[in-house]
Amino acid sequence: MTSKAEKRQTLKAPIGAVLVMGGGVGGIQASLELADLGYKVYLLDSSPSVGGVMGMLDKTFPTNECSMCILSPKMVEVASNQNIEVITLADVLSVEGEVGNFEVKIRVRPRYVDTEKCTGCGDCTAKCPAKITDAYNAGLSMTRSIRVPFPQAVPGAAVIDPESCRFLTKGKCGNCIKVCQAKAIDFEQKEEERLLKVGAVIAAPGYKPFDASRKTEYGYKVYRNVITSLEFERILAANGPTLGRVVRPSDGEEVKKLAFIQCVGSRDTTVGNGYCSSVCCMYATKQALIAKEHLRSIEPTIFFIDMRAYGKDFEKYYNSAEAKQGVRYVRGLVSGVREKQRHKNLLLRYLDEAGSVREEEFDLVVLSIGLEAPCGLEEGLGLETNQYNFARVDSFTPVLSSREGVLVCGAAQEPKDIPDTVTQATAAAGLASQSLHESRGTLLTKQDHPPERDVSGEEPRVGAIVCRCGSNIGGFVDVSSVVEYASKLPGVVFAEERIYACSQDAQEWIRQVVDEYKLNRLVVASCTPRTHQPLFRETLRSAGINKYLFEMANIREHCSWVHMQEPERATRKAKYLVKMAIEKARRLEQLPEGESDVTPRGLVIGGGVAGMNAALNLAGSGLPVYLVEKDGKLGGLARNIRFNSRGDDVQAYLRQLIEKVEREELITVFTSQMVKDVSGFIGQFKTLIEDPEGRETLLEHGAIIVATGGGQYQPEEYCYGQDERVITQWQLEDLLAGEPDSVKGRHGIVMIQCVGSREEARPYCSKVCCTEAVKNALALKEISPESEVYVLYRDIRTYGFREDLYREAREAGVIFVRFEDGRQPRVAVAPRGLRVEVEDANLGGETVVIESDLVVLSTGITANPDNRELAPMLKVPRNAEGFFLEAHMKLRPVDFATDGIFVCGLAHAPKSIEESVSQAAAAAARAESVLSKKKIVTEGIIATVDSELCSGCRLCVSLCPFEAINYDEHAKAVVVNSSLCKGCGTCTAVCTAGASRLQGFRSDQIFEQIEAAASAWKE
Ligand SMILES: Cc1cc2nc3c(=O)[nH]c(=O)nc-3n(C[C@H](O)[C@H](O)[C@H](O)COP(=O)(O)OP(=O)(O)OC[C@H]3O[C@@H](n4cnc5c(N)ncnc54)[C@H](O)[C@@H]3O)c2cc1C
Repeated sequence: MTSKAEKRQTLKAPIGAVLVMGGGVGGIQASLELADLGYKVYLLDSSPSVGGVMGMLDKTFPTNECSMCILSPKMVEVASNQNIEVITLADVLSVEGEVGNFEVKIRVRPRYVDTEKCTGCGDCTAKCPAKITDAYNAGLSMTRSIRVPFPQAVPGAAVIDPESCRFLTKGKCGNCIKVCQAKAIDFEQKEEERLLKVGAVIAAPGYKPFDASRKTEYGYKVYRNVITSLEFERILAANGPTLGRVVRPSDGEEVKKLAFIQCVGSRDTTVGNGYCSSVCCMYATKQALIAKEHLRSIEPTIFFIDMRAYGKDFEKYYNSAEAKQGVRYVRGLVSGVREKQRHKNLLLRYLDEAGSVREEEFDLVVLSIGLEAPCGLEEGLGLETNQYNFARVDSFTPVLSSREGVLVCGAAQEPKDIPDTVTQATAAAGLASQSLHESRGTLLTKQDHPPERDVSGEEPRVGAIVCRCGSNIGGFVDVSSVVEYASKLPGVVFAEERIYACSQDAQEWIRQVVDEYKLNRLVVASCTPRTHQPLFRETLRSAGINKYLFEMANIREHCSWVHMQEPERATRKAKYLVKMAIEKARRLEQLPEGESDVTPRGLVIGGGVAGMNAALNLAGSGLPVYLVEKDGKLGGLARNIRFNSRGDDVQAYLRQLIEKVEREELITVFTSQMVKDVSGFIGQFKTLIEDPEGRETLLEHGAIIVATGGGQYQPEEYCYGQDERVITQWQLEDLLAGEPDSVKGRHGIVMIQCVGSREEARPYCSKVCCTEAVKNALALKEISPESEVYVLYRDIRTYGFREDLYREAREAGVIFVRFEDGRQPRVAVAPRGLRVEVEDANLGGETVVIESDLVVLSTGITANPDNRELAPMLKVPRNAEGFFLEAHMKLRPVDFATDGIFVCGLAHAPKSIEESVSQAAAAAARAESVLSKKKIVTEGIIATVDSELCSGCRLCVSLCPFEAINYDEHAKAVVVNSSLCKGCGTCTAVCTAGASRLQGFRSDQIFEQIEAAASAWKE
């Protein structure tokens, strides 16, 4: 028999390139990860720009961050990465071959504009006579046949709509050719086919928004004031058709009463969509909140069935919207909408909680449309799909499609939100890398920047760019006057404004002006440095200037957003901030970056499903791993779960997972070991572990994955522990699996939801308990169809395809009784069994008494108490509930802010096994991006110490949060480890001798900034 290694040798080496189909947030994330992991990427999108639906959204829940503001830098990164080729207006025709060696035939439709030549100036659009509806504004406004799809589009070039272009349809016009100075119009372009050779394919085609006109009862496309949620996103957007004014389409009047109808095209078998679209409850809440932000007087009402606020921090977001921010929630299904002829107001007819039919008038109705399966999964990629046409995946391998070598992520697989999409995209990139890692780097082009110009002897020549951010800044700050003001400040040789300074074409323009005006300092006045500083620094570096000669003024968050009601004062403040930034920029100096070695080995803390998967994924990419588990055996909480929501055998899965881990030579498992200490930094960590006998082992590794899991809430309520007929869902699962006969013939089996969840001490939803309850209720009905099974709940949160189980449970006769928060059921031990009393909210609070044989508590998930000690060792934060806090909820969902440390599974938040498996693969991919590099580049902004001045007091040593400072006995002074230093400045602030200095934040730079602010105040 040939060994695995021999077999590998006889096979052709895999191709070190990947095709990513779909350029939404999922496809963008997957492409960036793959390029970082060392692969050539073809990023293909059927539309004229990447960005997907996220590019159309105004803000995102639950942080209410501007959606485009967080996506745009990533879009620019994709466009400027030499190892990613963006191919728009393209479709996959066929995929032949096998993993490692695919041939993908694609069709590229003509754009009729040369993207290399087009500058996106807009002259052609101004002269184009053919009007079409603007797809970017969801059809709410008109644009021209030739246009740049949206200001931050990538590529940032114009595109011609062949159906409406007069030249293409009638041979007339040609205005665009006449006005285009760049000679970019090319009507000779033809549709072409290309053959791409790749080792793997990642499908990220997202979803299709549900066509609301199919629900005729709501009058979409019939009544002008009935719109979809996607259209409402555009209305709310500052760069949308109404510039963010919440007005009615029929008459442009401000909206007073706003209604959202939930589940339009979701949870609805009449339109073939039995599943829940997972995101609509939260996005409606977000839209209601933003509408209130824009128009305080607006009264939003959300008509819903169950409030599915199941993700991390969603429950708090929903509670705050309802209790503090005036969003009204009405539980009731709207059966129809009628228009009142005179005012075009809309009458909503709905069943209220007491079962009475009601009518209420609103002036705008938003239909919260669901997410449908995308096209191209079956025909183009040859993938199997499920009954709803989404890509079919198995529970324990959630990003592997039915075809080996083709991975699937994001909403194409099941409706999901942005963080879950980003997580899965990262996971897919990591799994693609597993099959291709032998060819890592073989097709890479080195990112070439021009050599850095030494500007140390030059007089400062500052370029100041003021961004309008559409109307985000431009609508409130007088940008032109800020530019004029900046242009007269000392050292400024160039000042101009841009509509979007972060767009791709703006980066090219910045490079040109740096060159043309011989700039040696750059100031951008726009939004937050948190998301945009890396982009502008990179642009400056690509123009041949040291990236630390850049300064940013945040005139959006600090001016236009907070002072929207006082535009004059917002403008004045913007000028101060720009002056301060320019004064600092004049004094900036070039800073070098360092490099440190990488120990190419990972450490995974926690041997549950997430930890074991993370370790296996790293090992699969050829990287050795330590896996440390505090328990005597691997498996974690999953040892208590028998079947998942799809009926798959969790114990069988766990057994083969443990076997694989134990067989894998690259994984060294340490059971019964606790982490005692962690030191070091990205690329070079040292972790001390200890066994119960006190024996210590020191592990050296380059990255850490935290997979320490969570716990189960231990109930004291509902007579648990007092009567053995009160059990938890896990105990019920044991009975169902081990002694099914013991549940036969029991009558009045009552499940109680939200035990230990969604309450004051734990104000979050545990996400898995509703699915677990309906799954077990169905199992009970299967074993004993005659048993009466009750589920007492507040909301049933069976998101995604889990909704099928809920429907099946209702059809099987499981009785669902809803109770209100604060009106929890009561359980008492009665002479003949257990007596359960519940105030049925659907019967107006009438008390229902159930004589029960068995009460099953759906207990929630709690944070692992060990996290309290682990967090300071790793220097990573936890949230108020004790779960670990990721670096950025949307874009870095598995990263910690501390470099080289990643998180997955229940350690992050409550989630299902399949979600933990995805997150584990994502965390492994992120760790692989560290471990696969020979060197790590370290920051230029770090502290330095003048040993002559250092008194050796060591105050800085004790206060440094990153343990980056040590006392050197020999030198009698402290020294800073540049790899550990994060440039926080704590040491500089406490150093009484003035020996500690933070590069880029010298005292003279700060004092001049203060001086600038003070003098500007007097102007
Ligand atoms: C009204 C509304 C509001 C929302 N608000 C939020 C929110 O606030 N927060 C949040 O987390 N989520 C929100 N969502 C969900 C969010 O839109 C998705 O989670 C996210 O966009 C999914 O990203 P994706 O990359 O998987 O898909 P998409 O964004 O749909 O991107 C898919 C891309 O693939 C391309 N494509 C499609 N088919 C093909 C093909 N055959 N070949 C090539 N390319 C193809 C498309 O052109 C598109 O560019 C909202 C959804 C809606 C409808």
